[in-house]
Parts: sequence; C-alpha cells; structure tokens
Amino acid sequence: MNDCLFCKIIAGEIPSTKVYEDEKVFAFRDINPQAPVHVLVVPKEHLASANEITAANAGCAAACFEAIPKIAAAEGLTEGYRVINNCGAAAGQTVMHLHFHLIGGRELGEKIV
Ligand code: 5GP
Ligand code: ZN
Repeated sequence: MNDCLFCKIIAGEIPSTKVYEDEKVFAFRDINPQAPVHVLVVPKEHLASANEITAANAGCAAACFEAIPKIAAAEGLTEGYRVINNCGAAAGQTVMHLHFHLIGGRELGEKIV
C-alpha cells in the first residue's frame, strides 16, 4: 500500500489537481484527460480494484457514487456524463487502487455497452 500511487496522491505526497474531498473520497483531474472533464474519483480506503468490494467495505464505493453527482454539477456537466471503472489488467486498469473515471464536457460517442 505504501507503494500505491493514488494513496500517495490522497496523502498529498504526490501533487494533483484536487476537485473534491470529503471524509471518504478524494477526486482529482486525470493527468491524461480523455475529455474536457476527466476526474478520477477515488475512495481514501485502499482497495486494489472493484473486485475487492465486499459488504464490509462497500461504503467507500457508495461514498464515491454520492460524490459523483456533486462533482458533475460543480464541473457543469448538466447534459450528462459517463462513469467508467476498469477492473483488472485485462480491462485496462493500470493503477491498482479502486477509482472511477468521471468523463464529460463533450459528446461521448464511443459506447461499448
Ligand atoms: P486506469 O487505467 O487504471 O483505469 O486509470 C488510471 C488513470 O490514472 C489513467 O487515466 C491515468 O491517466 C491516470 N494517472 C496515472 N498516473 C497519474 C498521476 O500521477 N496523476 C494523475 N492525476 N493521474 C494519473
Ligand atoms: Zn492505494
């Protein structure tokens, strides 16, 4: 966990552009944005991926989804937005700390589901 990039960002050991924080959630701009708004919404509790969500710790994921509409409103995403979670290397997950991509600010055409 000491080696986790997002744990270091949450702790302020690595700089980021924070857009939201509460007791359970930290959100910051993606370093390689795929849209005008691309925010990473991250639980402060370290879970490696969505695969580690259980009944005991699901509150941290719920807190992310409580924060997402607030962040979307603050970012002006009145026309809609997309929330993406890559779970596991085969799905493209590159940082092994659970996170949700909040993407918007342009027409989002490339649907796969
Ligand atoms: P994943 O591929 O795991 O779903 O998403 C990881 C995301 O983290 C990528 O979109 C990548 O651009 C972003 N990212 C990687 N390193 C950093 C960093 O040091 N700072 C920020 N703000 N974003 C990062
Ligand atoms: Zn972590």
